[in-house]
Amino acid sequence: EKERVERLEEIDQVRSDFISMVAHELQTPLASIKTQSETLLTQQHRLDQETRSALVDGIHRSAASLTDLVQDFAAVNRIENNQFSYHFERLDLAAFVKEVVDLFPVDQRRYPMRVRVESGLVVRGDHRRLQQALLNLLNNAVKYSPRGGNIAVIVAPTRDGEAKVSVHDEGIGIRDEDLPKLFNKFTRLFDKRAMNIGGSGLGLFITRSIVEAHGGHMVVESEWGKGSGFGFVLPLWQPSGSSSSTTTPSSATP
Ligand code: ADP
Repeated sequence: EKERVERLEEIDQVRSDFISMVAHELQTPLASIKTQSETLLTQQHRLDQETRSALVDGIHRSAASLTDLVQDFAAVNRIENNQFSYHFERLDLAAFVKEVVDLFPVDQRRYPMRVRVESGLVVRGDHRRLQQALLNLLNNAVKYSPRGGNIAVIVAPTRDGEAKVSVHDEGIGIRDEDLPKLFNKFTRLFDKRAMNIGGSGLGLFITRSIVEAHGGHMVVESEWGKGSGFGFVLPLWQPSGSSSSTTTPSSATP
């Protein structure tokens, strides 16, 4: 009975976290779409071309952030219903990481990025899903760092004969007691320096699900006020019997 009550309380907490996150995350982009489109509608003849372009750009960016949010909801829904499918293939980590970093839209003058990859590490991976996982870590490194903070992306073998991909930042860092909460749905840590940063609290949950579906695990180290390192460890490609395959993980993601 006690366990049942605790479980119900937990569900209630997740529900209320969800509602407050949705209210908060929808409010800002919707308000900005509303104001900017109203300005365009009511004053379009008085605005110069540059101002009109800036307003359209603002509407576009707000709409894109709403799309990202909805895509995160859809991903979590599919993960929880075991409908997140994977197409595994042979993946060279060095080439993969360089490609994703090149894709990542960050201004190097604001966030100098260093990439150190060891070649020869091959895993059995889903390119699209692992790209999503790595982009989540890169986005967080930028989001939770002050301008000018260095970011390092490292690919290296582990002592246990696996491969590790990690992203290190010099950002706000995380308190020790908060580390266990990070991968839960809707977790957003309270930190005054991150109060105006948007987010669903779903990125790390999705990232962990992807990594675990690859037979890997997440690693995190952080010092509050100094910076963080988030990464994932993946087993290496086993040549015998590891052909390309498509699967949906059968076990529910915790
Ligand atoms: P979101 O960034 O959308 O809030 P995530 O699931 O990606 O969601 O991250 C959950 C929380 O973990 C963030 O809200 C933030 O408090 C903390 N966090 C994640 N990455 C970092 C980082 N690199 N540095 C400091 N805090 C981080």
